[in-house]
Amino acid sequence: MNTKIIEAVIAPPPTHWVGDGFKVHNFIPGVPGLDMQKMDPIILMDYNAKMKVAGSEHAGGVGVHPHRGFETVTIAYQGKVQHHDSHGGGGIIGQGDVQWMTASSGILHKEYYEKEWAKSGGDFQMVQLWVNLPKEVKMSPPRYQAILRENMGHVVLEDMESFVEIIAGEYKGTKGPALTFSNVQLMNARLKKGAKADFSFPSRFNTAILVIEGSVIVNGNEHVPANYFVKFKNEGEDFSIEAKENALVLVLSGDPIREPIAAYGPFVMNTQEEIRQAFKDFEDGKFGYLED
Ligand code: MN
Repeated sequence: MNTKIIEAVIAPPPTHWVGDGFKVHNFIPGVPGLDMQKMDPIILMDYNAKMKVAGSEHAGGVGVHPHRGFETVTIAYQGKVQHHDSHGGGGIIGQGDVQWMTASSGILHKEYYEKEWAKSGGDFQMVQLWVNLPKEVKMSPPRYQAILRENMGHVVLEDMESFVEIIAGEYKGTKGPALTFSNVQLMNARLKKGAKADFSFPSRFNTAILVIEGSVIVNGNEHVPANYFVKFKNEGEDFSIEAKENALVLVLSGDPIREPIAAYGPFVMNTQEEIRQAFKDFEDGKFGYLED
């Protein structure tokens, strides 16, 4: 075992609202030391820790806005999220489902609570990642993938009750369904108390975990509570997660693209000129049309 050493255990930073539906801890790039290059190709991570949403006729969320140059990956752990985009993509995800929207050349979308769920309200918990695209596909056509929990890869662990769900990438020979443009590994470890899962990713991959539920021990000695983020060093390959109580852990790893990043608001390109072009194309209506 060539242990992947922990670089930092990071407490959730203060929250801010995204639209009127998502109250997020921005770990990437908001936390000092976690800039867009640090977890390349994962350039943003917003985490809406578990919160109670009161029932309402108004479904909170974010209205129509553009993206270009990357992918938004939304994991609905609790509650239901609805999405529409100007490329015809859309759908509802709930309880563990994922939407993987490749904005690439440009898309308008809106994201909000699913209307029926919003009426009754309940627990809400969500992660949104931005996954960068290599230069050669930043201007390719948009794409939308709805990834339901039942279609994810599924690897049962030693206790026969705990398992790893693979969204993207591969775990112990079982692949996840997401189509990706770079090597992105995204999986949920759903562990019963006392269960242990081992992971192995190349040292050059940028690797981290986020504890969604419960608490865990990483590499046999580091206690990590719910809502904390663990960034590993680019040294060593293997790490373990042991559940101190029933736990759910999001595991993220990716082969860095290592290209220049020019980011402004909803656009992530390689140069400032491309950012200016994105604003111009957006203003010229080249991202399509989406009703509010
Ligand atoms: Mn968005």
